Amino acid sequence: MNKVTKLHEIRWNPLIKQWIIVAEHRSMRPWRPEEKREAFKCPFCPGAPELAYLESWNTVSLPNKYPALLESPPSPSREELKSLKAGKAKGECRVVIETPEHEGDLHTLSLEHAVKVIELFKEEYVKLSSRSYVRYVAIFRNKGKEIGVSLTHPHSQIYALPFTPPRIKVELESMREYHESEGGCMICDIAKYELSRGRRTIYENEHYVALLPFYAMWPYEVHVYPKRHINSIKDLSEEECIYLADVLRVVTATYTALLERDAPYIMVFHNPPVKGRYEHYHFHVEFYQPYREKDKFKHAAGIEWGFWVFTYDGLPEKKAGELREACKKAVGGLGDVLGKCK
Ligand code: ZN
Ligand code: ZN
Ligand code: FE
Repeated sequence: MNKVTKLHEIRWNPLIKQWIIVAEHRSMRPWRPEEKREAFKCPFCPGAPELAYLESWNTVSLPNKYPALLESPPSPSREELKSLKAGKAKGECRVVIETPEHEGDLHTLSLEHAVKVIELFKEEYVKLSSRSYVRYVAIFRNKGKEIGVSLTHPHSQIYALPFTPPRIKVELESMREYHESEGGCMICDIAKYELSRGRRTIYENEHYVALLPFYAMWPYEVHVYPKRHINSIKDLSEEECIYLADVLRVVTATYTALLERDAPYIMVFHNPPVKGRYEHYHFHVEFYQPYREKDKFKHAAGIEWGFWVFTYDGLPEKKAGELREACKKAVGGLGDVLGKCK
């Protein structure tokens, strides 16, 4: 495929002041190839040509075959109207293949193995954030066909973006405002408060708390907050990487125990922008789970998409209780766990 002939740029939406990544070639991505598995060779399984250069591996990072951003993007298109603005889709998209095993999730990896995944995230984050054109490094994991995942082999993704995502801009502003008015850190204070009350906490280890936030938008949304004021993933100590792997395994196992099947979810790492200093920002991980009950899917539709207004179908404190129960079941099956269900 000749990349240059395909349109590839970022376009500014002046109505909502957001960049959209336009990547024509991504329409050719394969969809759920495992459904005709015999004919299809998983590109993330050992023996795939992409991995031929490696002798043996547990976790490995590769360039995304259908990148939304390029290191050498073509020139963006031009329009005569001032409000129609485009820019270079300059960046990098990488895939972290977490295991040679074709099926699984974070919690089906051993704790030791999951730590390697976190360490690789950190390494990639540091490497990508040092590039001059990179403004933000987005680490995320999509799981399940409900979420639109095209390959089932356990993997996460990293986008090195030429702009700061709008959601992060809002978080930065909120945490800065809080710091100015209250003199502390918003997330440090919320984590302490929730731990002292316990109504929405789900799991705790030495360095992290997992909770269903007071302000959850998704029925089983879970946030993982470091107890220490950690600015970004690159500031995690060796021990904090181990405990992060622990809490993330427990959360994904909790989802599976809750739904009593391989659960879909979205996991995102919220770090500050990579250029500049944002010391008031508190690194955290967020999980969105799309079911509102075991068999009832929560669709983001008119009110959510058209207005960015979320309705929470249920009582967050009750859902937190359900997650606590699921956590107890999950932890029983995990074995090598470092903390306690609340
Ligand atoms: Zn595979
Ligand atoms: Zn903090
Ligand atoms: Fe966040």
